[in-house]
Amino acid sequence: MIQNRSSPAKINLFLHITGRRADGFHELFSLMTKISLADDMEFTFQGRDIQVTCDHPDVPEGKTNLAHQAAALFFSSCENLAQPIPMAGVLIHIRKHIPVGGGLGGGSSNAATVLKVLNERYGRPFSLEALLKMGLGLGADVPFFLFGGPALATGVGEKLIRTPDLGLTYLVLCNPGIPVPTVRVFTEYDFCLTTPEKYTIKSVSDALLQGEGIDIRQCLHNDLEGSSFRLYPEIRSTKEEMERLLQRPVTMSGSGSTLFALFSGWENAKQGYECLCRRWLDKDKRFFLTALQNG
Ligand code: ATP
Repeated sequence: MIQNRSSPAKINLFLHITGRRADGFHELFSLMTKISLADDMEFTFQGRDIQVTCDHPDVPEGKTNLAHQAAALFFSSCENLAQPIPMAGVLIHIRKHIPVGGGLGGGSSNAATVLKVLNERYGRPFSLEALLKMGLGLGADVPFFLFGGPALATGVGEKLIRTPDLGLTYLVLCNPGIPVPTVRVFTEYDFCLTTPEKYTIKSVSDALLQGEGIDIRQCLHNDLEGSSFRLYPEIRSTKEEMERLLQRPVTMSGSGSTLFALFSGWENAKQGYECLCRRWLDKDKRFFLTALQNG
């Protein structure tokens, strides 16, 4: 039996670093939302083993693939159920469309999709709460992809509060072609350079949670831009050039390197996308015309 699923990317509309835990992990305050850019995943239930293949050369195919780790965790958790489910075989093929190491959470999304698909396949033996716990063991962004809908994330990203829908907003993305190692960006982060804006953002999120129609363009921000830009100055220059061409703020998602600009209308977004494609015709950059996903 074969099942196909799409595995969406996310962006961080804002991302503030609020502290550091004793174990070294950074605490965040972020507004995250899925977008319509997605990987395709194909699940074939056969054999006795977990196998993962991927069409992207930079993504490992064996046990280090997050999709493989998610399936292994699912089946090992099944052994502890009152009525254990024996491990069965699954072949997972991933067709990558989400840039790898681009701050769009591709690997975490793939892991969450595996947990969801396997849980459905075996008659939902785990509650959402149990899946969220499993997901956090795989990566800080995995719970978000299990959760659904735009969310305010705190902790290391695992404490999630659903926000009302953010409306239909289009996005132009640019991946500058620089895969960024997340850990390096966090290590490089300098608490002394933290901007004071984070203290006013609380009021923005309170407004969001109360369903007041706020303009999300007013709260776009990413505290990690400084460290990513220091490590990879080309991300900064791409952002500046995009802002000049698109005549609007451009923000980095997650730890980078993908940059995005928001548009309220499709036509303007399309024009912006075409303008960027023309500007970097022969370069290593990738562009996407996409939209926020509320569901
Ligand atoms: P994060 O910020 O969560 O690290 P990201 O969006 O910046 O994620 P990903 O595309 O998730 O980056 O890839 C991060 C790393 O994870 C890459 O080095 C990649 O090789 C590895 N990886 C393992 N499994 C996957 C997968 N299924 N899809 C993408 N990358 C994967």
